[in-house]
Amino acid sequence: MKSIAFCGVLGLATIATSAPNPDEVKAYQALVEQDVRIATIGYRLAAANAPFCKKLERNPGWVLQDERQYPNLETVRTALAFREPVSVAGLVAGGPAETAGIAAGDGLLGMNGATWNWSTRASKAKSAQRIEDVQEQFRSALMANGAIEVKLETASGPRTFKLNPPAICASRFWIDTKSKLDAGADGYNVRITEALVRFAANDDELAAAVAHELSHNLLEHREKLKKGKKSAARIRATEIEADQLSLWLMANAGFDASAALRFIERFGRATDPALISDGTHLRWRGRVGIMQSEISEMSRSSKLNGLLPPPLLKEGN
Ligand SMILES: [Zn+2]
Repeated sequence: MKSIAFCGVLGLATIATSAPNPDEVKAYQALVEQDVRIATIGYRLAAANAPFCKKLERNPGWVLQDERQYPNLETVRTALAFREPVSVAGLVAGGPAETAGIAAGDGLLGMNGATWNWSTRASKAKSAQRIEDVQEQFRSALMANGAIEVKLETASGPRTFKLNPPAICASRFWIDTKSKLDAGADGYNVRITEALVRFAANDDELAAAVAHELSHNLLEHREKLKKGKKSAARIRATEIEADQLSLWLMANAGFDASAALRFIERFGRATDPALISDGTHLRWRGRVGIMQSEISEMSRSSKLNGLLPPPLLKEGN
């Protein structure tokens, strides 16, 4: 687990030119695709495990983006069919927003009778501030009212949609453009790097990485580690818990929990230094062993309403 700064999705290094570069256009489109993939896996995990989560929020199941998050405005306008500067970049298949008829590219016009006026916001610098503000407005309106009315510029003109999404585990899932195999959780955000997304062999393996980070959030590890003395042993204990809980979350969401074992082994072989003698270099073997015992425990555990109740999320933990 790494602590992360609260920042936006995109950090592509680029030289700003007015003519869109085709490779860059493709890179922007691929990034949106992976962002939606992470959001979809995250949504599935957070929705299926909602009965075990202390902190819930109503999640529309969409990925919103601001063209300002990208370093090159011309390119983003070529690459993505944004109808407004802040638009729906993609949807969780079968999620509340998609079910309501919202489509990728639909642009944000207003919410609950109020209107956004994107043009009046001055800054032209690449920034995630505006989208963070919008996300926060949706979060608090959904929290306060349960349902919202959102006005969007769609392919067939302006339309108002009523959204009444169910409450699921509170977390947001997004892709970070870093080329390092890395992921992080800060108590609310789950960040997966583009490199790690590519490293995962399939959605089940990617779900293992997302579920591990989500587990840190659900177990409030960051807050707990802030209290008291920070020690390697305490950090290691949180890592073990995240590995254990991740398997239950995966199984409940219909992912293959054993994919986590394969993922950890491959990840360990790729990232652990091979020949050091401080006892840490075969760490992944220990993780796999602990996860194997947890899978055995899951097979002995009885389901409640079709779900495996994770011991780590029982009251008192
Ligand atoms: Zn971790």
